[in-house]
Amino acid sequence: MIAVAAGAAALVVLAVAVALRERRRASRARADLEQLSFYDGLTGLPNRSVLHQALDELLRDARRTTARVAVISIELRAFSIVNETYGHEIGDELMAAVAQRLRRAQRSGDRLVRYAGPLFVVMCPDVSDGVRAKRRAEEFLAALGTPFQIRDDNIRVAANAGIAVSDRSYASAEALVFDATMALRDAEAEGPGAMALHDHSIGRSLSPSKAEHRLREALDNGEFGLVYMPVVSLPRNEIIGVEALLRWSNPDRGMVNPADFLAALDDTGLIVPVGEWVIAEAARQTVEWTRRFPTIGLTTTVNLSARQLGQADFFDHLTALVDDLGLAPASLCLEITEGSLVGELDPTWLVLRHAKQAGFQLALDDFGTGHSSLESLRHYALDVLKIDRTFVSHLGESPEDEAIVRHIIGLAHALGMSPVAEGVETPAQVSMLTAMGCDAAQGFLFSTPQPADRITALLAEGRLVTPRVIDLAAIESSAASAPGT
Ligand code: C2E
Ligand code: CA
Ligand code: CA
Repeated sequence: MIAVAAGAAALVVLAVAVALRERRRASRARADLEQLSFYDGLTGLPNRSVLHQALDELLRDARRTTARVAVISIELRAFSIVNETYGHEIGDELMAAVAQRLRRAQRSGDRLVRYAGPLFVVMCPDVSDGVRAKRRAEEFLAALGTPFQIRDDNIRVAANAGIAVSDRSYASAEALVFDATMALRDAEAEGPGAMALHDHSIGRSLSPSKAEHRLREALDNGEFGLVYMPVVSLPRNEIIGVEALLRWSNPDRGMVNPADFLAALDDTGLIVPVGEWVIAEAARQTVEWTRRFPTIGLTTTVNLSARQLGQADFFDHLTALVDDLGLAPASLCLEITEGSLVGELDPTWLVLRHAKQAGFQLALDDFGTGHSSLESLRHYALDVLKIDRTFVSHLGESPEDEAIVRHIIGLAHALGMSPVAEGVETPAQVSMLTAMGCDAAQGFLFSTPQPADRITALLAEGRLVTPRVIDLAAIESSAASAPGT
């Protein structure tokens, strides 16, 4: 009886042992398979599918925050020559040694993969801007700078790097890696050791004639749209106006911000017809708001480029437009940059002078970043002085910027202008600006740029804008719901 029980127990133990061994074998096989499908056998580095997965996750998270991720593509130049000269075995050893050096150059959080052949890609989650990304790329290239001792040979490699930094417009890892690799091709053309940062602008990614064709098409197809950013009075936080900001709803690239195409519009001269459209559309919208909310006295600000103002018929067009619409010129504020403040002999001077006499308001944008003289400020009799975001964003951190803002506010008042602070993002900035006597402010704290119907809703609710904690998800959805989408 005892023997039978002992035998049964032994069988059970055996069965468990066999099952365990089978499970171990299966999991080893799975691990081998995983190793094969996710790792490169030669260098032991993860492969592109690992990168895509990790990067897709990061981009998904980054769409809800301000987080950025840099992707650096590093490619060895003319690696086939190494194989031809030293043979494939040495070539393989060199490739593994290159991977080792790149691996050591990583910082915590980085993810290096062998993407294809002599192409390595690193994802750097903590690198948020082009300057930092370039510094990191330099570190990786420097790691490959000294010769490699492979068996008896001393082999020197040459490499290039291409960099792309994500923004919220990137929906997939592939797009970001593609842009880094496009930049890599530019770097390669420059020669060994060169690196390049991907530039999103259309003027950069297309030839001038193609860019012009594409932008003209965009204008004809009605792909341009406007969003509006509320300007609020301080300390009441009431909407007193809006600034019209141009957007391009591009069928391939989604919502494109002006930074990526304004230079191309300017270079091609298309800023003139597009700018005309902006003024006409903003004016039409202002008529609608004025009819619906007659007591508010809303001012709509439009941004003008120097080139537009240089057009001989600019003023005639403008007056004809407001006449046709029956809009009071004072409801429109023409916002110019310091570059447009030219001497009296320039035709622009007359255009601005006439506009002012006809009752349009004039604002100077980005004050403090250019070279306007106090003399020209006085001369132009401007209505509004916009304090650039760079000074506003450091309020409370930098005593120098605080002093600058305080002085700009004083200067504006002394010259009969209304100071408006740009880029207000925190309640602390609002308190300081209010204490300094600033008249008005705009910025993400109050509202991000919104499509016209959202502004209508805000005005209908009673104009009061409650400063809020900045919600980047909302910023994104406001971009996504902008005109044309
Ligand atoms: P800007 O006139 O200085 O416009 C303000 C820019 O700063 C806008 O970017 C706006 O979205 C952004 N901004 C405003 N508040 C905040 C904030 O609190 N935080 C942050 N991070 N950003 C803020 P956007 O719309 O990309 O416009 C960029 C520039 O493009 C404008 O700078 C303006 O110079 C130019 N622009 C826009 N629309 C037109 C247009 O119709 N014609 C011309 N000629 N230029 C335009
Ligand atoms: Ca502006
Ligand atoms: Ca500005």
